[in-house]
Formats: sequence, C-alpha cells, structure tokens
Amino acid sequence: MADVVTGGSVSGAQSRPDKLSRSEMARASGDGAQRLWLDVLTDVRVRVNPEGFETWLAPTRAVEFDVNGLVVEVPNSFFADWLGQHYVPELRSALARASGRDVALSFRARDAADAKALSLRYEYATRAAVRTNGGGGLSARYTFDNFVVGESSRFACAAARSVAERPGRTYNPLFIYGGTGLGKTHLLEAIGNRALAVHRNVRVHCVAAESLFIELIQAIERNTRLEFKSKYRGLDLLLLDDVHYLVGKERLQEEVFHIFNHLHESGSQVVFTSDREPREIPTLEQRLVSRLGSGLVVDIQLPELETRIAILQQKAAAESCELPHDVACYIAGRVKTSVRELEGSLVRLLAMASLDNAPLSVALAERALADLVRDEAPPDEGEICRRAAAAFGVTVADIRNGGRTKQLALARQVTMYLMRRKRNLSLSDIGRALGGKDHTTVMHAVNKIEKLRVKDPGFAARLRKLEGAGE
Ligand code: ADP
Ligand code: MG
Repeated sequence: MADVVTGGSVSGAQSRPDKLSRSEMARASGDGAQRLWLDVLTDVRVRVNPEGFETWLAPTRAVEFDVNGLVVEVPNSFFADWLGQHYVPELRSALARASGRDVALSFRARDAADAKALSLRYEYATRAAVRTNGGGGLSARYTFDNFVVGESSRFACAAARSVAERPGRTYNPLFIYGGTGLGKTHLLEAIGNRALAVHRNVRVHCVAAESLFIELIQAIERNTRLEFKSKYRGLDLLLLDDVHYLVGKERLQEEVFHIFNHLHESGSQVVFTSDREPREIPTLEQRLVSRLGSGLVVDIQLPELETRIAILQQKAAAESCELPHDVACYIAGRVKTSVRELEGSLVRLLAMASLDNAPLSVALAERALADLVRDEAPPDEGEICRRAAAAFGVTVADIRNGGRTKQLALARQVTMYLMRRKRNLSLSDIGRALGGKDHTTVMHAVNKIEKLRVKDPGFAARLRKLEGAGE
C-alpha cells in the first residue's frame, strides 16, 4: 500500500482507480502523508515560480491523510489563505497524479506567532536567492545562450540583449510581459548574467516582487528601512520580476515607485517583467503605470511550432539526450500552452524512458503525455465558454453573441478573463472569439474580474472552481 500512497509523479501518473480502500487510506497518515506530500511538492516544484515555491510551499508539512483527504500544516493562517488563493489547482492536480485519485486538500495553521512565520518566510525567500546566487540573486542557469529565440520572442530578446550590453543607455526601463512559463524570468536573469559578464563591477540585483514585499515588511518590522533603501538605491541594474504582484499592495507600489525614480534619475537600469502590460494591471497607481511603461514595453508570445521543437531539442541536448525529430514534433504539436509545460513533458518522457529502459519513441511520448493532456491541458475556448455558461446559467450562444443583462455581461467577462489567463490568448483574439469585441473591452473585462477576485472571496472561490479541471 505504501507505494501507492507515495507513488512518484511519474509512476503516480498512471491512474490506479480504487486500488486504495477508504480504510486503507485512513490508516495511511503521519509518515505516509508526508511522503505523499513530498511527491506532490516535487511535482509542483517545476511548475511554479521557484521563489514562490520556497516561500510558500517549502515550509509546509503534511500531517494527516485519511478518508477526508490530506491535511497540510502551514505556519499560520496567512499561509493557508495564500496557498488557498494561489496554489490549490496546481496542488490538487499534482495530488491526483501522485495518489492516482482525487484527494481533498486542506490547510491547518500551526500555532506560530505571525512574526515568527514572517521571518521563516523571509528566511526561505533569502535562502532561495542565496541558493541560486551567481551574484545578485541570479541563477547561472538562465543565459542568452540557452534561450531559443523564435518569432514570438525575437524583439524581447533583442531588447534584453541590448540592455545587458549597455545598462541604462538604451531602453530604460525595459518592461517585458507575457503569459506564465513563456520565458520572462529566463530573459530577466539572462540580462543580469550577461551584464555581469560584460561589466564586471556592475551592481546587479534580481528579485521577485513577492520577495521584495517580504523584505519590505521585514525591514519595517526590524526598523531597517534605511538599509533596505540603500540596498536598492545603490544598484546599477535592478531586475524586478513579476510586478503584477504589486496589485493591491499600495505600500509596496509606493516603495517601488521611489526606488524606480531614484534609480532612473541616477542613470541606473531597471527591467520589469509581468504577466500583462502595465495598463492591464488593475489597481496599480496611475503614476506607477506611466513609469513602468515609460521606456520600452515588449511582449513574449507563445512560441510557434518550430521554436517549440527547437526548445525541446535544446533541452534534451542539455541532458545529453538525443531527441528523435518525430518525438520532438509529436510533443511540440500537443503541448502548446507554455515552455514550462513543454519542459515538464520532456522531463516526464526522459524519466519514463530511463525507468522503463526504453528508447525515446513517439509511442513512449504518447504515454508520457496521456495524463498530462487529460489532466492539465487547459480548457479550449469552447470548453471555457461552456463552463462559464453552465456556471452562470446562460447559454454559450448568449456569451458569444450578445445580450446585455447583468448576469450575461458578467458571464462574458469571466469568459474573457479565463481565455486570457488560462489560454494566454491575445486581447484581440479574445475579442474576435466573442462576437467581435474591441480589445479595450476585453482588457476592461479582464481587469474588472481581477479586481472582483481580489475584493470578493466568494467570487474568487467560484472563479477558482471554473479555473480548475471543471470541478
Ligand atoms: P516565466 O517567467 O515567463 O513564467 P520562465 O522564464 O520561468 O517563464 O520559463 C519557464 C521555463 O521555460 C524555464 O525553465 C525557462 O528556461 C524555459 N524557457 C522559456 N522560454 C524559453 C526559450 N525561448 N528557450 C529556452 N528555454 C525557455
Ligand atoms: Mg517568471
């Protein structure tokens, strides 16, 4: 039984319906729970932002696994809320893969004082930076050499290279945006690594907005704001990742605004990344929006088929594997949502090949992708419309074509939001899919849903359900 409970992500990927009886599950608690949880974390680790992982997931521990599901202990209620809002769909599908069934997941707050939990989080965030530190919080893993350039990223990559060669001289700030897993962090860190290689004394720091937030809270608590300020104001090159995280964090926005002004005035380079354009980030203060967008704004789109094939081949070569062309074509033809997914598929395929001692073939790739495709492929446009229609009690035709009741308008806005966030579709493509709406209408809709999601927990929960695998 133990091996069922602790099945790794690869072997756990084969579904094993009803091998585990309820009473068996009830007995599997304690160690079993923790082993299962470690499998889940190992699986999730490659799918989420590394700093987010270290901050929010690393300090967790599973304590019970029984008929009611898996209970995970977290440092405090803030963690529980955070994980609930940001990581549940990812964790649930990993849990289903690892256990071979649909398992409920809940979080239990440990009785730690908030301050203690905060320093823990801070410690994890810093540890993440130190761990990857090739200087300035950079991971040596991300370079321009191993970034495969395609049509979808050519402009962004050229701008990034130019900034790395001559920080503060060309495009300042540089703002790179695109959907998740499309290579923003990779490019951002490549800038830092390249700048350090070219200008040895350049003071570089790369940080995710989320970690900056934790650092700021910590500085306020410890009365070390001056150190915090001078750390950031003394830089030649600030690489700030995932600035959409600033949404709803006024204090942090204010701080970023001041840091940015200071650096800009002293001729230092700033590069931002985000999952959307500056003007698409709701609740961001107008003056910050105009600062963020005041230099060059470039986007990274989904890579096209040839680039996806090239990326797979490059990643396989980095693992000293030769990936047959037909296998690369097969995977690239099916995994279309992000480069991270593409990497995940390859890792799964290589793991299966090595476990089975089998050659890399299309047949093996089919097996490797079977679960991925079934469990994780994001819903297509039709499916998104169907889900939204069902959730709001309207018809798909109503959503696509018109009707102006409040309920319908909301259903349509949710549909637009899901198409943007789940499928990385462009604003204009979404507009076209929904009866020829203008891209600003779509942007307004996505913003509105983002805001509602932050303001209204009930709505956020509904949305999460819709985003999940059609629960
Ligand atoms: P984002 O920050 O946009 O969410 P990442 O930069 O973390 O995405 O990229 C996800 C993974 O995909 C990383 O491992 C990264 O190295 C890889 N990746 C993304 N784009 C490319 C590319 N064009 N060439 C090679 N690897 C890429
Ligand atoms: Mg990133």
